[in-house]
Amino acid sequence: MSHFLVEVVIDAPGLFLDKRFDYLLPRALASNAKPGVRVVVPFRSAWKAGVIWRVRSEADVSSRVRPVASVVDVEPVLTEEQLRLAEWLCERYAATLPEALSAILPGAFRVTGGLQLQPARGVDVPDDVRASSTWQFVLQKKPDDRAVAKLDSNAKAQIEAWVELGYLERVLHVSEQVQARLQSFLSATKAPAELLQAAAARETRAPRQAALLRQLAVSGELTWARKEYPRTTVQPLVEAGLVRVDERPVSRFIWPDREERPAPALTVHQARATARLAQLIQAPGAHMAVVHGVTGSGKTEVYMRAIDEVVRQGRQAVLLVPEIALTPQMVGRFYSRFGDRIAVLHSALAQGERRDEWARILRGDASIVIGARSAVFAPVRNLGLVIVDEEHEPSYKQEDAPHYDAREIAVRRAETAGALVVFGSATPSLWAIRQVEDGRATLVSLPQRANGKPLPKVEIVDMREELRTGNKSLFSERLQQELEATVRSGLQAILFLNRRGYASSTLCRACGEGVQCPHCDIHLTVHRADGGMRLVCHYCGYEQSYSDCCPACGERALRAFGIGTEQIESAIATLWPDFRVLRMDVDTTRKKGAMQQIVADFEAGRADVLIGTQMIAKGLDFPRVRLVGVVAADTMLTLPDYRAHERTFQLLTQVAGRAGRADTDGVTLIQTYRPEHFAIQAAAAHDFVTFYREERNQRAFFTYPPFCELAVFLASHPAEHVARGAAMRFERELRRSGAIDYMTLLPASPSGIRRIDNLYRYQVVLKYGRWEDVGQDVTQSYRVVKERMNRLGGSCRLDVNAQRI
Ligand code: ADP
Ligand code: ZN
Repeated sequence: MSHFLVEVVIDAPGLFLDKRFDYLLPRALASNAKPGVRVVVPFRSAWKAGVIWRVRSEADVSSRVRPVASVVDVEPVLTEEQLRLAEWLCERYAATLPEALSAILPGAFRVTGGLQLQPARGVDVPDDVRASSTWQFVLQKKPDDRAVAKLDSNAKAQIEAWVELGYLERVLHVSEQVQARLQSFLSATKAPAELLQAAAARETRAPRQAALLRQLAVSGELTWARKEYPRTTVQPLVEAGLVRVDERPVSRFIWPDREERPAPALTVHQARATARLAQLIQAPGAHMAVVHGVTGSGKTEVYMRAIDEVVRQGRQAVLLVPEIALTPQMVGRFYSRFGDRIAVLHSALAQGERRDEWARILRGDASIVIGARSAVFAPVRNLGLVIVDEEHEPSYKQEDAPHYDAREIAVRRAETAGALVVFGSATPSLWAIRQVEDGRATLVSLPQRANGKPLPKVEIVDMREELRTGNKSLFSERLQQELEATVRSGLQAILFLNRRGYASSTLCRACGEGVQCPHCDIHLTVHRADGGMRLVCHYCGYEQSYSDCCPACGERALRAFGIGTEQIESAIATLWPDFRVLRMDVDTTRKKGAMQQIVADFEAGRADVLIGTQMIAKGLDFPRVRLVGVVAADTMLTLPDYRAHERTFQLLTQVAGRAGRADTDGVTLIQTYRPEHFAIQAAAAHDFVTFYREERNQRAFFTYPPFCELAVFLASHPAEHVARGAAMRFERELRRSGAIDYMTLLPASPSGIRRIDNLYRYQVVLKYGRWEDVGQDVTQSYRVVKERMNRLGGSCRLDVNAQRI
């Protein structure tokens, strides 16, 4: 007789990398056990949730193979395509299967609830078993796995024996949290005439039944409100074959009132773009397009038309946005166009809410999925279109393992499904333009604003001149004038600075030392707190109070250097005490909903000036903003990142694009000490092509992406020599492997910040052409080092296709 075995992926970090474990599948559980279904299995001395990877049958099974305890899901929670995608994630990003599966389905291994024992049905439990104290104990306990675990080992063995004998059954109790919330629907199974006839017959005998039948004769279906129609009313009608009861998952997402807004007539460029995308959607096979549309060109409308096209063909679409909290405006527009055909996936969803949305997508009830990075894994079965909006945003790259790039996943899924993938931006990444140049993607341009207005006038302000004329303020004369004029005429201004806090560091004028974090190799940042100034570490959260007394030499000569957003706020309060100011950065948006509140307040005109970091550059649409001021463009240029120029150009262009979006002409002022820099010049001139040519040449010359790919290995450990040793070992493993011929290796060295939170960090950077040539060897070397490091109490990570070093 053959036995069913299941290969199960279990999440037990640190113990092994990507092994799958065999379990015996009891026949009673076999019917639901399919790949993608979750199970609970005994693992070492605990119960663990796992995902079935494969089911196979074998004639001989070792007696050491343990049986599956319970099957959690009725239907697979991961589609076949998602399982294949998980496999690919492991190859592409040196990830483990549990990491990949958790990325695709957050909480996949968090099955709440536990095992319960109950007397087996249809089995006569002998009296001595029934009377046993252990048995009593088990039944008295609340149903969770610890009930068994807490018993002494004899009792545990006894229970195991009873389970073997079939007296007891293990039942999994899954708490409601992970089940989709179900709503009951009543629907008619007969034609209206027949229902009305049946209603007439019941009019006096059962008036409620008659009422329900009459209602269904008109509507065909209704949600079951139990107050109105109790079970005693419904059940006889079900038995008579007149009414059917269905349970369906419902969306818990609370929508604002839907206001129908008619689609606007397309501009010439929008019409052309829409037609081009429609062609690509209809053409067989997978395609890629880059939509390069200047800020305010109406890309959203083009996306909506493309989505409409796909949905009308009965296929599904996924729209990725950089940050869902920042796109209430966008979601609102989609809701008013498509209603509840959209599903929204975002990180603030509770587990249950996510499961509801997930279920609606799996069933095809929702045909349009909107969400941030991880929504690229949405379980759509019939994918026709993926759109990645603001494609250049760094948030599409996941910082933790698996270090995936949602843009690559989008391409991969589109290829598998024969779908179109669209990358949209006002400032396409070098990667995206490379796809166009290499003939892999079609370029679609929207060179003008949808409202017919010109792009905002951008002026560069040379801050060296200000110093010469004795202006020591954060604001140049020019910016002061424009701020005054803007606010006095009842319009709004945005001030942008890519640095939070009050000052970025301290320096003693007597000895030249600054105040360092005791746990990290980094200067403490100055923050303004209620009681005065504080020094804060942005890496580990360490805080201390600030005084001008230098901790190194004792002189009262400590000064704050490098401006942050808080300093702008106090400078405005000093110069214009009557201006109403909002600040949006990591510090003011920690609380849930705080970010949306700031956006809503500014949109409603409850403030004159919005100060913010890069958060304010992401696609917000404020019609009353006339002035945008970039307080210090240089802070971005000097970041130790090969993409510093690209980020500067993108942020300046995006921020400038917030000005003059409606009826007012916009003005943007860029303050800088390096007015001649090409990234600043090009952003001021709205000259993407010149920027692109220059940056492309530099990247090609120094061999940086997109002319190679980078992978960054990082080892961290409390002891510096262990971290360094791991990085050196990784380097040696690679030098011994065949992959060394296909890559350039930057030797083991301390990472940009040598110590964070008392952990020393050493890195090895790899440059290579194609991951296919080196991936296997790199992954193998990584695993060797990582397993060793896990035993030593440190950690390793490998960021493949790294976007920064
Ligand atoms: P982008 O994302 O390209 O910066 P949006 O999609 O936010 O631009 O559109 C900018 C503004 O133009 C929005 O207020 C939008 O409602 C408006 N708009 C878009 N298309 C049209 C159109 N065809 N006619 C009139 N207004 C439009
Ligand atoms: Zn620190």
